[in-house]
Amino acid sequence: MSVDKNNYSQIIKETNHGNALLVAVSKTKPSEDIDELYEIGQKDFGENYVQELVAKNDALPKDICWHFIGHLQSNKIKYIAPFVHLIHGVDSIKLLEAINKEGKKINKKINCLLQVHIAQEETKFGFDLQEAFDTAQKIFQEDTLGYVNVCGLMGMASFSDDASLVRNEFKSLKSLFDKIKHLHNVPSTFNTLSMGMSGDYKIAIEEGSNLVRVGSLIFGNRGKIH
Ligand SMILES: *Cc1c(COP(=O)(O)O)cnc(C)c1O
Repeated sequence: MSVDKNNYSQIIKETNHGNALLVAVSKTKPSEDIDELYEIGQKDFGENYVQELVAKNDALPKDICWHFIGHLQSNKIKYIAPFVHLIHGVDSIKLLEAINKEGKKINKKINCLLQVHIAQEETKFGFDLQEAFDTAQKIFQEDTLGYVNVCGLMGMASFSDDASLVRNEFKSLKSLFDKIKHLHNVPSTFNTLSMGMSGDYKIAIEEGSNLVRVGSLIFGNRGKIH
């Protein structure tokens, strides 16, 4: 088995200390690895690919909370909508509306995070800071999306050894999060700030993250393609 239980308990300690939820990112890893962690109490897992997530949901215990953290295509929402706990990577109004439509079909309010582009890299998806603010404001003011619950923000910092760069990117997301939280009409369920991965989760917690998504430190490296 490739699960690193020492790293896992260390991360659990740090996240509990910072009052953050640990989502164990299990993409590309076998169900056996997930089961091993589940057996010692881990209930939240993150996946990036719809097909893989559906297969794992079928194979594994029903009380697992599945987080979809990849880039979601509108035509695939229906496969995960019935069971997904939280969709992290919502990066357009169009996608939100499509999720709302699926939620309506199955009469389920679907939890979502707006993904915000905070890194310097061009390739990352997401709203920019101003767009995210405007979008959140619009959603909560108009209140027309009855089947999505926008419960926070998600972001990825630059893949960089420059800790102060990473820290500043997290700071910018935290300050946007606070700004939105204090808007008029924002429900108390807007409470999740998803930031921090294997390389930067400590900084993220220091900067106010309350949900970290950690994969390779727990499950080992995934190899180049992912
Ligand atoms: C893969 C992935 C992670 C986990 O990355 P690690 O560096 O392995 O911890 C976290 N968030 C997102 C969005 C990912 O795609």
